[in-house]
Amino acid sequence: MNQMNSQELFERSKKVAPGGVHSPVRAFKSVGGVPVFFKSAEGAYLTSVEGRRYIDFCQSFGPNILGHRDPDVAKVVREAVEDAWSFGACDPYSLELAEWITARLSFVEKLRFVCSGTEAVMSALRVARAATGRHRILKFEGCYHGHADSLLVKAGSGLAGSAASDSAGVPEALARDTLVAALDDEETVEKIFAEHGSEIAVVILEPLPANFGLLVQRTEFIEKVCEIAREHGALILFDEVISGFRVGLGGMAEKLHIKPDLVTYGKIVGGGFPVGIYGGRADLMDLVAPNGPVYQAGTLAASPVGVRAGLATLQKIERENVYHVLEQRTTAFAATLNDDFKKNDLPWVMAHYASIFWLHARPAGQGDKALRSPAEFDQNMRDRYKVLFHSCLEAGLYLAPSGFEVGFVSLAHTDAVLKEARQIILAGALKAYGK
Ligand SMILES: *Cc1c(COP(=O)(O)O)cnc(C)c1O
Repeated sequence: MNQMNSQELFERSKKVAPGGVHSPVRAFKSVGGVPVFFKSAEGAYLTSVEGRRYIDFCQSFGPNILGHRDPDVAKVVREAVEDAWSFGACDPYSLELAEWITARLSFVEKLRFVCSGTEAVMSALRVARAATGRHRILKFEGCYHGHADSLLVKAGSGLAGSAASDSAGVPEALARDTLVAALDDEETVEKIFAEHGSEIAVVILEPLPANFGLLVQRTEFIEKVCEIAREHGALILFDEVISGFRVGLGGMAEKLHIKPDLVTYGKIVGGGFPVGIYGGRADLMDLVAPNGPVYQAGTLAASPVGVRAGLATLQKIERENVYHVLEQRTTAFAATLNDDFKKNDLPWVMAHYASIFWLHARPAGQGDKALRSPAEFDQNMRDRYKVLFHSCLEAGLYLAPSGFEVGFVSLAHTDAVLKEARQIILAGALKAYGK
């Protein structure tokens, strides 16, 4: 393990893995250059194989809300490994996490553990289709729900709602069962339901779209979508894989005071280990095997290490009022940076919601209005971000390697860390505009 360097490891990786990576955005395609290979992490910091330290705002794309290797979670993980790391049988640890969650979230009456957000969403859709006897689903352009076939679709060019597959290998026939609407546009949703209402099993949405920029929606929009869905007998699935346990214990469902029929979680709920959840109304979840006719299973589901890390994470969040702390820190961080941007006449914005932020170039003519839909994006956003990203990387700060990904403030991002980050980001923001 001595004398490794990222360039060399990337060359070797490309020979054994497509693009040298195990998830596409890690390849730095969007920002260019050679991806950094990391060997360890602690709190707010990553350490590369070269031994260089970086402030980390990617935090594994969200799971590490307490920062890397939080000491309280680390202790539980060590204990867990001493006991067992997989049973493939019943255990008290997943029961404890399931009870902890269902006791706090009224709309999660029953749940099942799976191994990823993708798997959670895929399974929840199957339940929705079984429950309604309908085959179509409605999703929104700009929301990401993992890589299940029926969700790798984009808006088609024809009729409102029509869809086309967004990945090779997804049959058009499958894509046709997915209808696509635009965010922030209740009229289209109404139109689609007027035409296809009796065929739509479920409306799936990120109640806080945070996978293609951070597109905070109007509450009335989400309320309206849910109202239309209910009128037509369709179920509502909140995909809270990114917002769940991040914006508050009850996620966006709690913030919006909306009870979804089904909900999916991932990321934070495994404390950094691969755990996903789908859950919701008991009558719907009771359709799942062995109770009901919907088949879904998992060899490593409810991994004892993952569920124990997840519970330790959630308990610490509750015990230490972490949401409050993160909200305050992130609000101050974004406010000072936005102030810096204004003073320097830069069109950059740090949008934020709770501890999620998104650094982006404001499109011309947008004014102070927040972006709500990908249709509003500045076409040069990607190039500007590229410069910002590399400037930060050189200065020892790691942002997500794509301008369409959000950043995360963790409990380990102290005021001192954020102060340093502010200087680095401002320098990158200036550089992106040749200043
Ligand atoms: C990350 C994410 C997924 C996919 O989860 P994986 O664990 O990457 O499969 C699905 N939906 C949302 C909203 C996500 O943020």
